[in-house]
Amino acid sequence: MSAELPAQPENAFRLRPHHGLCMKFFIGKGYSGDFAENMGNIKTFLETNDPVIVISKGADSICRKCPNNCGGKCSGEKADKYDRLVMELCGIKYGAEMLYSKYSSLVNENILSSGKLRSVCGDCKWFGICGSWQDLTFCTDKENLQKNLP
Ligand code: SF4
Ligand code: SF4
Repeated sequence: MSAELPAQPENAFRLRPHHGLCMKFFIGKGYSGDFAENMGNIKTFLETNDPVIVISKGADSICRKCPNNCGGKCSGEKADKYDRLVMELCGIKYGAEMLYSKYSSLVNENILSSGKLRSVCGDCKWFGICGSWQDLTFCTDKENLQKNLP
């Protein structure tokens, strides 16, 4: 089965690092209807087609429809910090290329299974959703949940 490739800049599947986390917990909610529709399409595409992704700095295919995207730069102050922490924990750098499934596994192994989501993005407005889901679904080290405060 294949899904239609969403339109994207420069025909490369750019994914900013922390969006590998957000993708796991997306349940159709978001900053706007357009944002949620676009993110849903991208999640389906990535999980169905497993393309090569490029770990990218700045706006990516998800930011494309976000009202916080101001000319390719996030108007929020936290996204760059989340990206940096995810790269540190996963041992990758901007420009890394790999299958989406590989990146998904890196995020699971290095962040979610050890309950470290809070240490990356515990101050995000959506953490109430994502944090609960991590604890229930991904985390195999429950004792670590309390240790990883932002
Ligand atoms: S809490 Fe925010 S940054 Fe973290 S995974 Fe959820 S939406 Fe993404
Ligand atoms: S523009 Fe900022 S808030 Fe919007 S999706 Fe991109 S990183 Fe997230």
